[in-house]
Amino acid sequence: MVGQTLALALAGAGVEVTVLERAAPEAALAPTFDGRASAIAYASARLLAGIGAWEALAPHAQPILDIRVSDGESLLFLHYDHRELAAGQPFGHLIENRHIRFSLFAAMARAGVRVRAPVEVRGITTDEFGATVTFADGTTVRTRLLVGADGARSFVRAQAGIRSRGWEYPQAGIVLTVAHELDHEGIAHERFLPSGPFAILPLPGRRSSLVWTERRDMAAQITALDDERFAEELRDRFGDFLGDVQPSGPRWSYPLAFHRAETYVAQRTALAGDAAHTLHPLAGQGLNLGLRDAAALAEVIVDARRLGLDFGAADQLARYEKWRRLDAVALIAVTDGLNRLFSNDVAPIRLGRDVGLGLVNLLPPLKRVFVGHARGTSGKLPRLLLGEAL
Ligand SMILES: Cc1cc2nc3c(=O)[nH]c(=O)nc-3n(C[C@H](O)[C@H](O)[C@H](O)COP(=O)(O)OP(=O)(O)OC[C@H]3O[C@@H](n4cnc5c(N)ncnc54)[C@H](O)[C@@H]3O)c2cc1C
Repeated sequence: MVGQTLALALAGAGVEVTVLERAAPEAALAPTFDGRASAIAYASARLLAGIGAWEALAPHAQPILDIRVSDGESLLFLHYDHRELAAGQPFGHLIENRHIRFSLFAAMARAGVRVRAPVEVRGITTDEFGATVTFADGTTVRTRLLVGADGARSFVRAQAGIRSRGWEYPQAGIVLTVAHELDHEGIAHERFLPSGPFAILPLPGRRSSLVWTERRDMAAQITALDDERFAEELRDRFGDFLGDVQPSGPRWSYPLAFHRAETYVAQRTALAGDAAHTLHPLAGQGLNLGLRDAAALAEVIVDARRLGLDFGAADQLARYEKWRRLDAVALIAVTDGLNRLFSNDVAPIRLGRDVGLGLVNLLPPLKRVFVGHARGTSGKLPRLLLGEAL
């Protein structure tokens, strides 16, 4: 999704781009491809509109109107209401990943972006002037700049010799869609349970996407349960506030990890999205962070090109690296810290964090800081995220 976004942004500014993708474009729509839905922050939606992908996505997008954060059974909670925002805009939208990928592919076809998919990359070499990618069939493609937006296990990152540091969480995220009797009214719930966060994220219609964090061994046992037992476990945690709730479609289990590449750039190479950093999903920020990478890299490339400079040269790549590093470091620290603080049941810690949640709720300036992050409107934003042309 990050690579597709970058390609569309560049193509819109007249830069020649080729996208290399391992999976066939039509595979993206199959319900078996990726069970996740993403919370697309308000600013990220502006970016998707700017690259011509939002119109096709809008029918699949559920506006997030309220966010409610609670800690286990505690009554104290943090409540964000979109009516407190200027012009009552939503915090963001929930969209299934398969729709995002497919709409981006469709937009790339309309924009005339060259796509080679499915393709198997065998090797990458770089020199002072460019990068050469070799495919399994022996053919090659030459480029002035190669961008690795190939996910957490990035081949491009490995080939560039860039090390990645981080750790695996002892948790996995069980992901599934549920159908429920009552309307969710656009409210997203984040409940911190001792095993980890349990997120109920509203989808169009009477459906929600769940990210249910459990210890890895428990997650494996739960996903292996038969339908009836699984539904019981689910209702135990979900409750009955939306009436009867039924799992619908496949269950997924994503092992959770955090990692960060030591550098985002190497000779004629840049990393973006999960290839550069992977976060705990508790704040729904990984893709949004990657979309900010895409918008920033597109801006650096287009600005250099307008000045007649070589956009793949080390000094231009250094601009990108400098711009993006802090955003990732800050989000990793926040998501990792929150996960540690909330994924336990130690009484004094529980009391402290509940008082903290209640205080944030009562302090509008502090609340506004968190809202800015949730909506992706904080920090030095690339033009596309501000709703401006590239
Ligand atoms: C449970 C869960 C819930 C999440 N929820 C949210 C959320 O609500 N909001 C949010 O912002 N983020 C969320 N995230 C994070 C988000 O899913 C990732 O940050 C996002 O998918 C990263 O996008 P990407 O394009 O960088 O990488 P990916 O989505 O991993 O895409 C990489 C692409 O590269 C291709 N590829 C890989 N290797 C090769 C190769 N060798 N050759 C050719 N192609 C290759 C793959 O086929 C794929 O298409 C969540 C993560 C998890 C685990």
